[in-house]
Amino acid sequence: MRRRNVVGGLTAFAAAATFPKPSIAQSAAGIVVIGGGFGGASCARALRRIDTKLRVTLIEPNRIFTACPFSNEVIAGLREIEAQQFTYDRIVAEGISVVAEAAVKIDPQTRVIALAGGQALHYDRLVLAPGIDLRFDAWPGYDEAASAIMPHAWKAGPQTLLLRRQLEAMDDGGLVALAVPAGPLRCPPAPYERASLIAHYLKTRKPRSKVLILDAKDAFPQQRLFEQAWKELYPGMIERVSLSQGGRVTSVDAKSHKLVTDFGEYTAQVINVIPPQRAGRIADIAGAVDKTGWCPIDPVTFASRLVPDIHVIGDACIGGGIPKSASAANAQAKACASAVASLIAGQEPPTPRLSGACYNTVAPGYAFSQSGIYQVRDGLFAEVERGDTSPVDAPREMRAHEAENAQGWYRSITVDAFG
Ligand code: FAD
Repeated sequence: MRRRNVVGGLTAFAAAATFPKPSIAQSAAGIVVIGGGFGGASCARALRRIDTKLRVTLIEPNRIFTACPFSNEVIAGLREIEAQQFTYDRIVAEGISVVAEAAVKIDPQTRVIALAGGQALHYDRLVLAPGIDLRFDAWPGYDEAASAIMPHAWKAGPQTLLLRRQLEAMDDGGLVALAVPAGPLRCPPAPYERASLIAHYLKTRKPRSKVLILDAKDAFPQQRLFEQAWKELYPGMIERVSLSQGGRVTSVDAKSHKLVTDFGEYTAQVINVIPPQRAGRIADIAGAVDKTGWCPIDPVTFASRLVPDIHVIGDACIGGGIPKSASAANAQAKACASAVASLIAGQEPPTPRLSGACYNTVAPGYAFSQSGIYQVRDGLFAEVERGDTSPVDAPREMRAHEAENAQGWYRSITVDAFG
């Protein structure tokens, strides 16, 4: 990103804050999007496409975004981290001001955002898309320092590479344990995709090793498909201890490499701790988070139910049965952009109908998927139509075909969000 664009964005909004609104305020409205991930980047682009007169600013501290989807393949050594990384150059080229700083404060009364560098930005409407924060207060013993020993790898980047290096350094015959929280969590099937791909790595490199999943849930998404694949591809390699079998982790001891559950203690050579989650901290600072830790929204406009002129999309929002995924964040981003543009133009926002697909790759050339369609029911998103779900007893050609589709899905969603 060029410095010129950063300064351009700040200047434009300083002016908007100082001078009275022009009579064309409607088309010159300033919209700020916080968070340049799948939700925020897609929303900023959609806003500019709907109306090129809208002044759109995207605030994101990282100059390079590292995507989580397919990061389990990086952990398993099947893909390099560079395939996960995207710049904001295309977004800047479309006339969006990208400010490479973190937002640290939001005053909904004056509609001013404070940035980490000390500057202030005014908004007419604000879209929050900060993703998740990991709850380092949830499991005694698991804090940020402990994550340097037992990586979470639930935000892609250095943590992803740390977990991969630990697997590479482990002796054949070692145990890899995953601690999985109860929901809501980012990408509910991803822990099981990760366990599968780790098993693939072990099967090919360290065949005497095993994977243990300690789970705070009894059931999990696409369970029959995963369990069928484990039987077929990794017999005897993956053991899962569910909630009712005592699998819920209650505390962690990073020094002695130990996970403590309701019924026992487990020591493993490599431990991936996926802690409970909540909306990104800035949403809390804005006052948009309720006691669940997430942001309640009006599902038609994505407007916060707690703070005026603020919309929330992506993992940070909670609005019913739509899962926290890049697919959902991207679909919500477009619907939210359309609602925001309608509201600015004084028009009735359209009622959204969102669709999302979720692919799980459990080995190279072996994937399955589930898709759904979501609409507003009683003030929440509800799944109104089951899309396609891969059959449990599908032939291998179908799994191979789905693995190709998964790659295609990743290419198109990342082009859609980042160009
Ligand atoms: P993010 O994409 O995380 O973006 C949030 C952005 O906000 C970040 O860039 C962050 O830096 C920024 N931010 C936070 N706070 C501030 C602040 N104060 N100021 C400015 N910026 C801020 N989904 C799928 O659909 N398919 C998959 O196959 C899939 N696989 C996954 C595998 C794994 C291992 C994991 C962990 C997740 C997976 N997901 C998948 C889920 C997907 O990654 C998330 O649901 C998606 O990234 C959510 O988008 P978002 O915009 O809400 O958050």
